[in-house]
Amino acid sequence: MSIIDNSDKYNPSDPDRDKDELPLKELITSSEWVEYLTSLSEVIHFELSLYGSDGELLVNTKEKPVCHFIKHNCSGSLDCPGSCLKVLGQNEPVVTKCSAQITCFVIPLERHGDKVYIIGRNSFAEYEDMLDFLRIAREKRLPEIQVSLPFEFKGKDHARAILHYVYLTVIRLLKSHEKKYRLEEKLIRMTSLFDGQTFRTLSRNPDLMYRYILDTMEFVLGQASSMFLSLDRDAGIFRTVCSTGRFQDAAMDFHISADSPEIKEISDKGSAYFSDSPGNITSGSTLHEADSLCLFPIFVNNSVQGLIGVINKKLSREDMKIMNAFSDYIQLNLENQGLRISADESKKKPEQKLEHIIDVDDKIVSAVDIEMLSAALLDKSLEILNAEKGSLMLLDDETSELVVEAHKGTGDLIQDKKRIRIGEGIAGKVVDSGGSLVVADIENDPRVRQENRSHYRTKSFLSALIKLQDRVAGVLNISDKIEGEPFDDTDLQRIQSYISSVSIAIERSLLYKKAEHLKKLSITDPLTGIYNRRYLNKRLSEEITRYNRYKHPFSFMMLDMDKFKEYNDTFGHIAGDNLIKALAQRIARSLRAIDIAARFGGDEFVAIFPQTPKVDAIQITNRLKDKIDETLKEKSLELPMSVSMGLATYPDDATSIMELIEKTDQALYLAKKGGGNRVVYL
Ligand code: GH3
Ligand code: MG
Repeated sequence: MSIIDNSDKYNPSDPDRDKDELPLKELITSSEWVEYLTSLSEVIHFELSLYGSDGELLVNTKEKPVCHFIKHNCSGSLDCPGSCLKVLGQNEPVVTKCSAQITCFVIPLERHGDKVYIIGRNSFAEYEDMLDFLRIAREKRLPEIQVSLPFEFKGKDHARAILHYVYLTVIRLLKSHEKKYRLEEKLIRMTSLFDGQTFRTLSRNPDLMYRYILDTMEFVLGQASSMFLSLDRDAGIFRTVCSTGRFQDAAMDFHISADSPEIKEISDKGSAYFSDSPGNITSGSTLHEADSLCLFPIFVNNSVQGLIGVINKKLSREDMKIMNAFSDYIQLNLENQGLRISADESKKKPEQKLEHIIDVDDKIVSAVDIEMLSAALLDKSLEILNAEKGSLMLLDDETSELVVEAHKGTGDLIQDKKRIRIGEGIAGKVVDSGGSLVVADIENDPRVRQENRSHYRTKSFLSALIKLQDRVAGVLNISDKIEGEPFDDTDLQRIQSYISSVSIAIERSLLYKKAEHLKKLSITDPLTGIYNRRYLNKRLSEEITRYNRYKHPFSFMMLDMDKFKEYNDTFGHIAGDNLIKALAQRIARSLRAIDIAARFGGDEFVAIFPQTPKVDAIQITNRLKDKIDETLKEKSLELPMSVSMGLATYPDDATSIMELIEKTDQALYLAKKGGGNRVVYL
């Protein structure tokens, strides 16, 4: 009887799978997995261990008493744990017995040649197994078994049932875990290309920019045939201006009318359009041979100005999310550019300035940071209305609260980042009702009617909704005209016209904030929160550029914990993770503000010491080691831990990033070879 249901098998050749995913070994030894295996082991009463294909122990949960006894008292005579590892190499899950007659099972997991094994161990499945063990023990003169727990013989079928259960849950979890990972990794990849400067440079040459867009997409989505369509306003059609991949030639002749039902649907819904018969969608279609087409709109100033087409590729839901984020990013850059051009033009032709164009001043064009932009907008609004007090609040989509981004003259009544629930207070009610408010007398207006607080000189105020493409994004509150007169509808109109003229800047800044968040995600190590290797490489090349200009040498340090595997094996992976975290924090706290610390991987950390020649770097590294030793002493009393450190200097020891890393690694190797717990420099 086969115990495995093949329909649920983890299929390594799934065509939807990307070629460059997180290696199985790394995935399954992540802290979430270790935590999961630990609790699973407690539920099923089996010890669970993960091994690599070469027999390397990757993860271990708490040992079962019999196994523990045998491993620690009779390991040599019974080839323990070697005998239970003999099953490694199996291609199918099996239940078996080790040379001590203990029942164990093995579950092989494989993908792209990457193999790991889950081994489950419990105790003797049958009474006879225990008798056999006792006989072997007598023959080999092994110590008497000393486990106080009464044995329960659950039989082989029990072990099979447990194996089946573990197999199915692990496969199911692996699948869902990978899905999440794929989305994150793609976002990270895309954000690593988020580089406004490149875009700005390329946008002077549209052909290059289109290609950049399609190349980036291909990088993110994997191999794809794609096209970029741009609106030809005079002809009223979208034409392909660039295409790539298998359908490149046919795509080049593709065009679609701006009045077509497809474009209308895209504009109305503000989202992508999908067709599984692209040959039929429009009279201008040349894609008769393609099975599908997905068109992603690029909106500029609220209307569709461009389209990105992905041809003949089934996009997963995650891919769709990525593509939507990517078109937002392109929109951001295009609008940015438009804004810059209109600001430049308004400077050139002062006589043609409209009021709202004048107001798009340099501060607002250049402010991408949401706080700076909010402060600039509030200042300008107060100036336009000749008022002295006000606040600007933006809606936090996640919590549906208003957040104070800027305030002026409001004293203690309003603080930075204060949060206001929708429906509460005047601003909260304005957002809730969806209509701006001009109030001449707060005490007698039936819509608000409340006592005027002593902080305000006048009883009049104005609350204008900030809308971006018909979506409420926040509210701007203005009080106390300098001359003391009340606000009226003309004031509201002026402020609303101003807000709409700068809405692109607000939108851009909100998108920028999102992009910044993604960027941060892409350069930090999730376990420790300090920088990761990706960021390190970027910084190293910047340091080299700086050296070429100013000729200040800089130093590079690599650190690796000594015998960290032993720590993991003794205290478990979760304790190991905690030690890595504590070490990261200590390193980050002990360095100077200009230094950069990063996790290189596993138990390895690195630091760049900018503008630091070797003599100083040696001193810094020795001091750092003292601090680390203090932390390790505090955190690991039972098993004394230490670190080895290697140090090299640019350009004394190397003339390229690769060489610098190699040389530093050599120094680290020498530190290890010398017995660890030391600093070695070249
Ligand atoms: P050495 O003294 O030569 O440095 O040996 P070591 O035992 O410290 O082992 P090595 O540096 O070669 O490998 C680091 C080990 O750290 C491998 C792996 O078991 C473990 N490890 C890697 N990443 C993590 C992690 O994120 N969490 C935990 N808990 N352990 C990790
Ligand atoms: Mg180590």
